[in-house]
Amino acid sequence: PSSTREGFTEIPNVKWEDVGGLDLLRKEFDRYIVSRLKHREDYAEFGVDLETGFLLYGPPGCGKTLIAKAVANEAGANFIHIKGPEILNKYVGESELAIRTIFSRARTCAPCILFFDEVDALTTTRGKEGGWVVERLLNQLLIELDGAGQRQGVFVIGATNRPEVMDRAVLRPGRFGKLLYVPLPGPDERGLILKALARKKPIDEDVDLIDIGRKDACENLSGADLAAVINEAAMAAMEEKQMLGKDSYGTRTWTIKAGHFDLALKKIS
Ligand code: ATP
Repeated sequence: PSSTREGFTEIPNVKWEDVGGLDLLRKEFDRYIVSRLKHREDYAEFGVDLETGFLLYGPPGCGKTLIAKAVANEAGANFIHIKGPEILNKYVGESELAIRTIFSRARTCAPCILFFDEVDALTTTRGKEGGWVVERLLNQLLIELDGAGQRQGVFVIGATNRPEVMDRAVLRPGRFGKLLYVPLPGPDERGLILKALARKKPIDEDVDLIDIGRKDACENLSGADLAAVINEAAMAAMEEKQMLGKDSYGTRTWTIKAGHFDLALKKIS
């Protein structure tokens, strides 16, 4: 989708209902971003000063990008999606300029959420992996993050699977100061994720998604894996319709049934 194109600016169309589980994170972001943008005067009146930089960390495919987009949607904020490694690879020799440009654009289109995916690529502990290029880039990033005072309505969210390789300096208050863990879903959260993913699909009324989420076959599956499961199930149902549909009465409604989920789970796990 166009919203994942590097640096593209728009309000994402991901709603909270599209995010399964992760209620605590939702509450945090409500306080720190959504309600803050909606009730600016109250925050000013009471002099409430909250962090504007966040780091989402945890295993891949568990909803870091998804939540960030949902927060932007909920807050009515623009969303700029930056992929850490692209800054390094695409703008060789001009990465610092790229960083400056990105922050300046974020200020221009505030309220705005600036999302750095794979942010560890830009903030790896100095001198280890990337050498002087990363060092200079990191310094530029720190300068921009510290410009918090002028960043009215700009929130920065970083995402990483490897927080341990990140330079401690970027994790200080005012930078990526608030750390939020995005865990692998547990049995009940898996059901909630399946429900969120099923919102726009013709699921049979006899299918209990919460029950499916609790199955052993779902153990250790991430949100991205569950998306693959539901997609396989949908495909199995669709192929059944294509094969049998022409022989049946036109009034029959075709739905995704428990059997399709069983097939899908066998395929995925
Ligand atoms: P990565 O670290 O690989 O970038 P991520 O944590 O950013 O992963 P997302 O890109 O947000 O993961 O998730 C990938 C896809 O998996 C989503 O587009 C969605 O289809 C599904 N998904 C993951 N987590 C959830 C969730 N909590 N609720 C609903 N869908 C989810």
